[in-house]
Amino acid sequence: MTEIDGMGTDRAYCVLAPNPSAMTLDGTNTWLVREPDSSDVVVIDPGPKDDVHLRRVADTVGSWGARVALVVLTHGHPDHSAGAGRFVDLVGGGVHVRALDPRHRLGDEGIVEGDVITAGGLELHVLETPGHSDDSLTFWLPADGAVLTGDTVLGYGTTVVEGRLGDYLGSLDRLRAFCADREAATILPGHGPKLDDPLAALDHYIDHRRERLAQVEAAVAGGARTAREVVEVVYADVDRSLWPAAEWSVQAQLDYLNERS
Ligand SMILES: [Zn+2]
Repeated sequence: MTEIDGMGTDRAYCVLAPNPSAMTLDGTNTWLVREPDSSDVVVIDPGPKDDVHLRRVADTVGSWGARVALVVLTHGHPDHSAGAGRFVDLVGGGVHVRALDPRHRLGDEGIVEGDVITAGGLELHVLETPGHSDDSLTFWLPADGAVLTGDTVLGYGTTVVEGRLGDYLGSLDRLRAFCADREAATILPGHGPKLDDPLAALDHYIDHRRERLAQVEAAVAGGARTAREVVEVVYADVDRSLWPAAEWSVQAQLDYLNERS
């Protein structure tokens, strides 16, 4: 597997947080993005409230002779956002944190579909991609053909759908069309290694969701009624520590199937 810490593109650089788990894979990827040699850095997802990690992010920016111009969040889950306030303090304060969900902002600037974030010549385009969470965003870095997907698409495995499955499936279809249209070169995820074949990765995600839906339908047809009962059938071969998360995911699938029927 690719080395995650230090991976990236010409403009994006990953600092891996030391918070590995079944849910966060190797840990959270904090992305530092800037134009080559620019002194303005945008930090995407400072990560958990872990001083060693946050200092390492700040030190990396410092080692470039640059400064943090802005912090943005792919979504509000704590493994991405909890360290944001502390990070802003560490770099001297005054930096805004922009997020879709107002509860995770610092400063009064929001962020919505179609926004273009600029810093020192850098351009990041904002796409709303709900599903993993209601507030999930994806950032498109056109200069590198890179898509920063947060937890909407991970470097391996599959993501948990906490929001509505219909939204998530729509986001995957939309990202696939977007990546095909823009000839995206790489996905830079919120966890795990980067993916240099975005369309293959998205097809894999879309196929996986369809398969799981078919399995859930079959489990229901076989008599399973609650999300837990479905999980016991469909996720029988999956580590039990992931079952509570799977239950969320299955509930979303049951809701989706009920809405459709
Ligand atoms: Zn995450």
